[in-house]
Amino acid sequence: MKKHNFSAGPSILPQEVLQKASEAVVNFNNLDLSLVEISHRSKDFISVMENATSLALELLGLENKGYKALFLQGGASMQFLMAAYNLLENKAAYLNTGTWSEKAIKEAKIFGEVVEVASSKDANFNYIPKNYSVPSDADYFHITTNNTIFGTQIKELPDTHVPLAADMSSDIFSRQIDFSKFGLIYAGAQKNMGPAGTTLVVVKEELLGKVSRAIPSMLNYQIMADKESMFNTPPVFAVYTSMLTLEWLKELGGISAIEKMNNAKSQLIYNEIDRNPLFKGFAAFEDRSTMSVTFNLSDATHKDRFDALCKEGGINGLNGHRSVGGYRASIYNAMQIESVQVLVDIMQTLEKNS
Ligand SMILES: *Cc1c(COP(=O)(O)O)cnc(C)c1O
Repeated sequence: MKKHNFSAGPSILPQEVLQKASEAVVNFNNLDLSLVEISHRSKDFISVMENATSLALELLGLENKGYKALFLQGGASMQFLMAAYNLLENKAAYLNTGTWSEKAIKEAKIFGEVVEVASSKDANFNYIPKNYSVPSDADYFHITTNNTIFGTQIKELPDTHVPLAADMSSDIFSRQIDFSKFGLIYAGAQKNMGPAGTTLVVVKEELLGKVSRAIPSMLNYQIMADKESMFNTPPVFAVYTSMLTLEWLKELGGISAIEKMNNAKSQLIYNEIDRNPLFKGFAAFEDRSTMSVTFNLSDATHKDRFDALCKEGGINGLNGHRSVGGYRASIYNAMQIESVQVLVDIMQTLEKNS
C-alpha cells in the first residue's frame, strides 16, 4: 500500500495525477512520443501551457482582470529576487514571519530600501504579527501567507494601499481568499501543485515596466509574459503535471470545495493535539496553518515509541524542520482525510500504551 505522505515538499500529489503524468511520459496524447521528447513549440505542448495558465487564473478567480499567469524556473527562491528586480524602485515593505520571509528580505535589500514592518522572530516565529503599519510610499508589501516551517498562516489579509505581493508556495489553491487584492503571487509548484521545477507567478500587468533599472531577459516578468512563459525552453514535465493537478482541483469543485476538506483535515489533527496530553502544538492558536501542522511531544521520552508506531503505520515525512524540531504534518490539498485519521489513531495508540 502507498505510504501516508506528510512530507513538506516535494510532497503529495493526487494519485490519478501521478498516473496520468507517468502515462504521458511514455506516450503523450497518443502521439507515440513522450511528453518530454517533443518540441515545446509543438501545438500539443503549447496547448498544455495555455491550459495550465488559464486554469490557474480561473481557479484563483483572476481571469480577465489584468493578470498574467507564468510558469517560470528557479523555484520560489528565484522569486525572492525577481519580485524586487521587477517591482522595487525605491522602497518595499516586508512582513517577517519566518525563514522564507527572511530570505525574501535578504534578496530585496540588493535592490533598494527594505522596511521590515514587523517580525515574530522574538518567539521563533510561532505567531503572525498584527497591528503593524505599512509605509504608504512603499512600492509593494510582501507577505508569506503560509509559513511552511513554523506552521503559521495569515488568516486575515492586511489592509494596505500599496500593492500586495505574496509567497504562497505552501498554501496556494488551498483556501478561498480575495486573490484580486494581490499585485503579485508566486508559489513553487512542489508544495501544492506539481513536481519541483516550475514556479507559478501571477502578476498584475499594470505593475510592470515601472522600475528604471535594466532587467535581464530571463528575470523580466514582462518578457516572460510577452513570450507566454516560453522565452526559453520551459520545464515541460513540471508544467504538464501542474496542469493535471489544476484539472483535478477544478473537477473537485475548485478552491472552495478543497477548502472545506482542508478545514476538516486540519480540525481533525488539531483536535487531537489539543486533547491528547502527550502532544502540544507549536503555533499560536489563532494563526495555526491548515496546511502545515507543527507539534511536539510533551515528553520527549515517548519519541522512539511514537516514531516506531508512525513507521509501522506507513507514515512518511513527519519530522519537523530542524529550526523548530518536533513534528510537522504537511496536509496539502492531495492528502486524504483517511491518512490524517491514521496519524490521529497512532497518536491515540501512543497515549493508551504510555
Ligand atoms: C518551500 C518554500 C520556498 C522555497 O521554494 P524553492 O522552490 O525551493 O525555492 C519558499 N517559500 C515558501 C513559503 C516555501 O514553503
